[in-house]
Amino acid sequence: MIESSFTGEFQRMHRQINLLFGLAVAAGLSAFASLAAAQAPAPAPFVPHQLTPNVYWVEGGGGNSGVIIGDKGVIVIDAKTTAAGGKELLDNIAKITPKPVTTVILTHSDGDHVNGLVSFPAGITIISHENNKKELQAALSAGGRGAPPADHLPTQVVSKNKENLKLGGVKFELLHWAPAHTTGDLVVYLPDQKIVFTGDIIAMQLPDPLIHLEKHGSSEGWITTVKGIVALNADKFVPGHGDVQTKAALQQRLADATAKRAKIKDLVAQGKSLDEVKAAVDPPPAPGRGAGGGGRGGPAFATFTEVVFRELKPGA
Ligand SMILES: [Zn+2]
Repeated sequence: MIESSFTGEFQRMHRQINLLFGLAVAAGLSAFASLAAAQAPAPAPFVPHQLTPNVYWVEGGGGNSGVIIGDKGVIVIDAKTTAAGGKELLDNIAKITPKPVTTVILTHSDGDHVNGLVSFPAGITIISHENNKKELQAALSAGGRGAPPADHLPTQVVSKNKENLKLGGVKFELLHWAPAHTTGDLVVYLPDQKIVFTGDIIAMQLPDPLIHLEKHGSSEGWITTVKGIVALNADKFVPGHGDVQTKAALQQRLADATAKRAKIKDLVAQGKSLDEVKAAVDPPPAPGRGAGGGGRGGPAFATFTEVVFRELKPGA
């Protein structure tokens, strides 16, 4: 009797201790969570910039987006990185116009330009280069982090080097010269507004062109492409990342990359190693950072020098 009463009392206390311990853990966790929330810097709100009465670009949350207000609906260029980013972009658009988003044009397949599509309404038209769609499908079947939303794949692909469209009464030229940043790049040109959306063919966070070898981009194709871009009758160039550029700024970037590529080609012809080439053409890497061209918190991409070297010496 005594023993069983003791056991019962012990079990009751044990349950209470467990309960108290559980509550303490829960309280601790929620205190920690609110502390973490208080300390994490709030993401900077997106910033819409107006270029003409009906054309905007929206900064923040990944790649730049374009917003073109047509007569009945809105055409968006690139959709930000995450579901929250896609929603914030749509919220920004709703402050500009009550018209619905009808169409999205993708400049390339990178997640920071595509994955916010998950928040876009079902049934909209999504336009990309055919190789972009193939890259998205490959990323989707590989699965994992950063895979694009399966129910928002391109519904219309561009396979020619130039496609003229009229969307919402606005003239668009969708242009592709060669593989550059990726094989699926589309440059969006608004001839009446003299505005070009370049995607990451121009990415201002890096001094050199950003070329994804893993998506079969090309430094030579980049030069061909940027020659095509600066030949357009335009005066505002919205890059994939960074502020609007002038034609003179892009011509300078083209001249710099062309000269750097030629220098790398000479050094490779002289039999120099990658390290020797880097030492000759690149500034020394900043302390604490790898040689890669990352710097967006994402993976460190191959630098322009590495890309050109590998193109000229495949398998080296
Ligand atoms: Zn990109």
